Amino acid sequence: MARRRALRIIEPDVPQRATKRGAARTPLNRDCEVLICGASFAGLAVARELAGSGAEVLVLDRYEIGERQTSACGIPTAWLHALGLEAALQQTFGELVIHTPHTTVRYRLPWTFSTFDYRTLCAALADQGEFEFETAKVDGRDGQTVRTDRGEITAPLIVDALGWRRVLGIGDNIQPPDALLSRGLEVHPFGSGEEMEIWIDRGIVPAGYGWSFPAGRELRIGVGSFDPRYHVKQPTNRLAAALGADTVRYQGNWIPHALRPATEDGVFFAGDSAGHCLPLTAEGIRTALYFGLACGRELRAVVEGRQSRDRALASYAAFSASHARPFAWMLRVQRLIPRLPPRLLAGALRAIDRQRFIDWAFGHYLAVAHPDFAGARRARPPARRSRAAATGTARA
Ligand SMILES: Cc1cc2nc3c(=O)[nH]c(=O)nc-3n(C[C@H](O)[C@H](O)[C@H](O)COP(=O)(O)OP(=O)(O)OC[C@H]3O[C@@H](n4cnc5c(N)ncnc54)[C@H](O)[C@@H]3O)c2cc1C
Repeated sequence: MARRRALRIIEPDVPQRATKRGAARTPLNRDCEVLICGASFAGLAVARELAGSGAEVLVLDRYEIGERQTSACGIPTAWLHALGLEAALQQTFGELVIHTPHTTVRYRLPWTFSTFDYRTLCAALADQGEFEFETAKVDGRDGQTVRTDRGEITAPLIVDALGWRRVLGIGDNIQPPDALLSRGLEVHPFGSGEEMEIWIDRGIVPAGYGWSFPAGRELRIGVGSFDPRYHVKQPTNRLAAALGADTVRYQGNWIPHALRPATEDGVFFAGDSAGHCLPLTAEGIRTALYFGLACGRELRAVVEGRQSRDRALASYAAFSASHARPFAWMLRVQRLIPRLPPRLLAGALRAIDRQRFIDWAFGHYLAVAHPDFAGARRARPPARRSRAAATGTARA
């Protein structure tokens, strides 16, 4: 699928735009039809769904696409296949190993989970879109105008896919530690492993879990705390040390664990900005993709004249809110587990180790944001009109 200037980081031969860093940054004051702020999972999924619509789509991010990894990059494998992103796949796991101080259980999953390479995935996903890309830091919004460090951009359709801070929401940005946020930090030492492992152990973190996800020649070892006041650097270092791994290449962030309104004041929110990360597991990639696709489909109907912007705002908000039940359930379990006496937790984990139950539970878990939603490669309707000539942008 063709696209507009998205992959400079993996295609060094493509001419660089003279607007990158420092004094070389040129002003960016303009308008467009769809402005997608954030070029990670959610933002690129929105853009993908607009490809071929003929809409003038501008994607912004403070970094180049794929430059800054935002997670351990674990996802149900079927999502990589559903979106044609297999090129990014690094390692696949059929089992989940959970350690507690009193037991270790090994659940055979009804579907597999894989780690992937962030840069490759973002590049491949961007390649399915058709948009202009600019690096700019988004500072805020006045109505339909977004303020950036390079200028102001006005658009009738604006998407905030900027992550947990919800930069384009009304009022102040969301601030830790009072908001419903978890915190996560991991290291990426070179090494290898065969198992996807989780630690539920108060010796590591009072409320939360530790993980080790092998990804080819690297391990992603980290700790997430459901309590945003609990710092996770020392726990992460201790877990890495216990596993004999170096504490190098840190990556961490806040992680929302409650749904937020998916639209507000005429803006669409997708991914972490809408609290689309699942509580309990902190799995937010497939949900960012899933809600990003849903958002993109609503926007596409607007730019193709099949529905009004207000209608799109209403349907997307309702679609997101229709997932409130599983999110609420998972938040309840997230709050319950740290309260269980460790021996009781170990007993419960052993008790549910029945294949029929595992299949049922993980089947429901996958269904919250099922890969079937992505569909196979979609037939693209003919473009409404070509924008490349009008905007003077070359297609890569
Ligand atoms: C340590 C850790 C490990 C994790 N591991 C996993 C995992 O293995 N699997 C999983 O499913 N989930 C995982 N998550 C959660 C997952 O990372 C998020 O839920 C997911 O990245 C959300 O995607 P998103 O596109 O909404 O936001 P993000 O991936 O956070 O992307 C936001 C984008 O916006 C850009 N941006 C932000 N602010 C600005 C600004 N002001 N101006 C311009 N650009 C801006 C950023 O550069 C970024 O590209 C993990 C989280 C953490 C912290």
